Amino acid sequence: MSNLESEPDELLASGATITTERTPLEILLPRLVPLGGPRAMTVHRTLPQRQRSTIGAWCFLDHYGPDDVSATGGMRVPPHPHTGLQTVSWLFEGEIEHRDSVASHAMVRPSEVNLMTAGHGISHSEVSTTEVTVLHGAQLWVVLPEKSRDVLPFFEHAVPEPFDIGGATVRVFVGDLAGRSSAVSVFSPLVGAQIDLPAGIDVSIPADPSFEHGILVDTGSVTVCGEPLGRRELGYLDPGRDDITLRAAEPSRILLLGGTPFGEPFIMWWNFIGRTHEEIVEFRAEWQRDVIGAADPDGRFGTVGGYDGRALPAPELPTVRLKPRAAPTRS
Ligand code: MN
Repeated sequence: MSNLESEPDELLASGATITTERTPLEILLPRLVPLGGPRAMTVHRTLPQRQRSTIGAWCFLDHYGPDDVSATGGMRVPPHPHTGLQTVSWLFEGEIEHRDSVASHAMVRPSEVNLMTAGHGISHSEVSTTEVTVLHGAQLWVVLPEKSRDVLPFFEHAVPEPFDIGGATVRVFVGDLAGRSSAVSVFSPLVGAQIDLPAGIDVSIPADPSFEHGILVDTGSVTVCGEPLGRRELGYLDPGRDDITLRAAEPSRILLLGGTPFGEPFIMWWNFIGRTHEEIVEFRAEWQRDVIGAADPDGRFGTVGGYDGRALPAPELPTVRLKPRAAPTRS
């Protein structure tokens, strides 16, 4: 008999299942990004990065805090635009006031999800409230698939009901996990959940085998399917798993993100997602013309009511053409 490696094609063609050791956890290290200006915070960015631009349709992940913002006067992000994506705000501590161009006015609070579907175009401002001394949370974006990316903008708020999986406390803030669903809208198969892990026991989280997953450690340290993952790191797991085993040495808090691999090439530049260079150029031109140049409430990005101050001008476009990035395939 020949060994298994010598005739892999024949074995696959026969329909045999080859059991191999699972591909190990791919660790994505955070990049420190000083947001500067009025936000005056340094965030830990794990998506996008050269190595990987998406996990499911999750395409942006900033993890920040706990930061004492009392000295800097808090976070103050003037009105700015978005297209072709959803923003997901999830806080562990603090409070942020949200206003947008579809007349939403809402508070972002710990364990409450604020989801803004930008679609065709929206603008919004984010300001930490005056009582806030500490900000701690995650800012996430979801790229919209072609069929939904031009939907009219809308805003949703929901408070996920915590539930138990094997001793861990789970809050599903986007999509579905273990038969629980978030109330906010998704446009591709997705999960976003906070999982609070007790120390010293294996917790098995059921997984959709068609999903790829990312695990971000907010506090503590965990092993994911037996492999160590440190604070602020994002661990990537490829599709094909029925469950994800988590174990914490000390009480730990993680975010679990997942979805079916996105597949569509897209361009992300500044706060816009589009499909072509020309489209991004047009979004920028409309923002500069209708909002920075003049307040046109009928323009693509509308106007943000109730914000005291000027909107954020777009940066200059790079001199090279923007090229779409496809989700990387893992060999
Ligand atoms: Mn924004």
